[in-house]
Amino acid sequence: MAKKKRTYNTRLIRRNRSYTVQGVADLFKLHPNAVHRWGLPYIDEQKPQRVHGSTLIDHLNAKQSTRKHTCKPNELYCCKCRKPQPAWENTVDLIIRNPKQLNITGLCAVCNTAMNRGGSIKKIPEYQKIFNVQTVQGEHIVACGHSPVNCEL
Ligand SMILES: [Zn+2]
Repeated sequence: MAKKKRTYNTRLIRRNRSYTVQGVADLFKLHPNAVHRWGLPYIDEQKPQRVHGSTLIDHLNAKQSTRKHTCKPNELYCCKCRKPQPAWENTVDLIIRNPKQLNITGLCAVCNTAMNRGGSIKKIPEYQKIFNVQTVQGEHIVACGHSPVNCEL
């Protein structure tokens, strides 16, 4: 599988200036060849090749966001497929854990593995629009208005 890669701090880059490959390499303490391999869109054919700070930021953000397994609103992370997948028939169950948080569970549309994602109680109406919510379990926790621990007896 993909080896663990480092994260680049894009805050080191200034949007309104341009960088040479060497400049980028210095910024992140890399070998210029490593920067070349990113396939950056350079400004022009001039030597040394330069890249706009803003282009570099966008490029790194895109590069980094694809590694984070960010789920689209209608997707859950499937451990077996190792990527976010839509739920089978878009059907999920909401399992309330406490007055603030819940779990969204469903079956992977591709491999049928149980998938799980954390969610927030406040977003239940949103989830009901996005998914075909089959059941909401543990509603009594919210109905109480307090977390079980804080409930005064
Ligand atoms: Zn799967």
